[in-house]
Amino acid sequence: MIPNITCLPLIALAQRHGERTAIVDAQGSYTYNDLLDASARVAATLLGGRDDLDDVNGLTDLSDLNGERVAFLLTPGFPWVATQWGIWRAGGIGVPLPCNSAKPELEFLIDDTKASTLVFDAAAEPLLRALAEARGLDKSGRALLYEQISGDLVSDAPAAELPDVAASNIAISKIATPNIAGTRRAMILYTSGTTNKPKGVVTTHDNIAAQIAALVQAWEWRREDRIVLCLPLHHVHGIINVLSCALWSGASCRMLPRFDANTVWDGIADGATTLFMAVPTVYAKLIAAWENSSPERRAFLSQACANLRLMVSGSAALPVSTLERWKEISGHTLLERYGMTEIGMALSNPLHGQRVPGSVGTPLPSVEVRLVGENGEPVNAGTPGEIEVRGPSVFAEYWGKPEATREAFRDGWFRTGDIAIVEHGVYRILGRTSIDILKTGGHKVSALEIEETLREHPAIAECAIVGVPDGEWGERVAAAIVLCDGSLLDLESLRTWAKDFLAAHKVPSRLLVVDALPRNAMGKVIKPAVAALFHTK
Ligand code: AMP
Repeated sequence: MIPNITCLPLIALAQRHGERTAIVDAQGSYTYNDLLDASARVAATLLGGRDDLDDVNGLTDLSDLNGERVAFLLTPGFPWVATQWGIWRAGGIGVPLPCNSAKPELEFLIDDTKASTLVFDAAAEPLLRALAEARGLDKSGRALLYEQISGDLVSDAPAAELPDVAASNIAISKIATPNIAGTRRAMILYTSGTTNKPKGVVTTHDNIAAQIAALVQAWEWRREDRIVLCLPLHHVHGIINVLSCALWSGASCRMLPRFDANTVWDGIADGATTLFMAVPTVYAKLIAAWENSSPERRAFLSQACANLRLMVSGSAALPVSTLERWKEISGHTLLERYGMTEIGMALSNPLHGQRVPGSVGTPLPSVEVRLVGENGEPVNAGTPGEIEVRGPSVFAEYWGKPEATREAFRDGWFRTGDIAIVEHGVYRILGRTSIDILKTGGHKVSALEIEETLREHPAIAECAIVGVPDGEWGERVAAAIVLCDGSLLDLESLRTWAKDFLAAHKVPSRLLVVDALPRNAMGKVIKPAVAALFHTK
């Protein structure tokens, strides 16, 4: 008997899905019942052996983690999900750590969240064990190797009594903030850090349920669906849009341990896959892999795409050239959507109906979106404004940063920092307020719009536009580009070409040819790092 099983929607729904396949990974295939069993064991282990803990302010409850942070680092696969669910079922807050991170980055996340426990697999053990030892977590039994926990799976130990997670909200009532709704905190994800030092985005169980439910409804997830997951599991895209939507729906998720373009293609083309979701960089890599394949394999892969019902792109602007090339290869018009760690997904092109290239569609169910000017007032139709979002999917707070949390909201609306415009009833993203909107000669220009144009140049493979401070212009439009193999390009010929497509003030006046653009783990271009390239030249 597991008392909390009806409280968390994902876990309650899993009971209904029972013997259906939930996860397929490199080790095998696992049902929803397997997931319920394994997560109960993880929860029981997390709650066990806590008798020696100091009682901090009377909050320590030996039968409920009550919002303790549990950081975990496991290769994507069944153990990752069992651990995430186990943390939730024990009443903890899950902090997924990024694979392939450097030691200082992991130290920052563990220390910023003040994680009480670390869970890891054998692959991560050498690094995590050392971090646990340095923090005294090893000695107190708070450094847990997943393989040892799962060893209990084969024993006959009875399932532990787990806390009633939804009903017990002591952690919330003791440290309440205005943005926290009915349920307790569930997860902390660190923002991708393309601008500043990462901040921990705290979502509650209610937020997560709302984020999932909106996508399940809009994209008509069903239990027959099968999806391939190749995205990192420390980001909303992989965790919510792919994994959690699949598990909510009784569908099955094939989790790849890491990204490899040909393995992903094999997954897409396995005849059973119905859905695929990725970031634009992944699509660019899949296109390159397809182009490097034999004519027979190309034909096979392209044909196999007909079995899928939906392919989605998001987390960064999708170049129209990528959308068009993908359509030629796969026959699919990618559905582009817009979202953020803090809000889940907010805007989406339609599942049925016209998808407008370069646009991100309209608000998802239960999400309110508005565009405001610098004075915070809604702008008139056809005028660019900052996207503000309101609704149950919007996060609770930045972890340990009440000031930043307050600043992020205006009258209950979350200020995304992204600028958009509504054209013909659909939203088009123009860029981030701080980095993608340049001020040059008094004109505000969108970096994304210039990038979109430059990608049409036959010699340009990739490009990033940034503003470089300039006494005369305020900012100069600066282009960092990666050239196509064997191509050459200088500033003068680029300017001559670009003047046919762009207003004079949008034409780059600085050019830097680089081997690769600096990108983060999600494949997003890190604009401050691009700007720094110009400062060092
Ligand atoms: P993250 O929190 O890492 O998901 O990053 C969210 C940011 O990615 C947003 O604030 C946008 O700047 C950007 N973003 C997400 N989706 C899109 C999209 N479809 N087009 C342009 N930018 C996007």
